[in-house]
Amino acid sequence: MRLSEAIRLGAMLKPQAFGDYTDGIGTCALGAANEAIGLSANDDETEGPWPFIAIGLPCPSCGVTLGADPETGLGEMVEHLNDYHRWTREVIADFVETIEAQHEASMAKDSAAGCDESQPVVCGVETNN
Ligand SMILES: [Zn+2]
Repeated sequence: MRLSEAIRLGAMLKPQAFGDYTDGIGTCALGAANEAIGLSANDDETEGPWPFIAIGLPCPSCGVTLGADPETGLGEMVEHLNDYHRWTREVIADFVETIEAQHEASMAKDSAAGCDESQPVVCGVETNN
């Protein structure tokens, strides 16, 4: 499951919380994502299921660069949008989705590079050699 999907799903379970993964009643965007994949809301291993999220980005609201630290990654941005700008989790999920789409496009480009263009079906298939 993508992070954006997990945020949307978790947002349906509980109201939004700010400043922490959970306030005992609701969940922040990351807490919601955690619950959507069966973790407890305040599991701080959130980055685990979404290993690609360590990328530095300008905040779409105030421009500060966040997420460059591989320890926190895009999760840092999600937290910032949730707690500082108080974006709804649905709007945060929409933003995360655009990042995921960009990431997937660049991954596809990377895996296409160096492949034999006459055999596109073979390209991108992972081998264990
Ligand atoms: Zn900001």
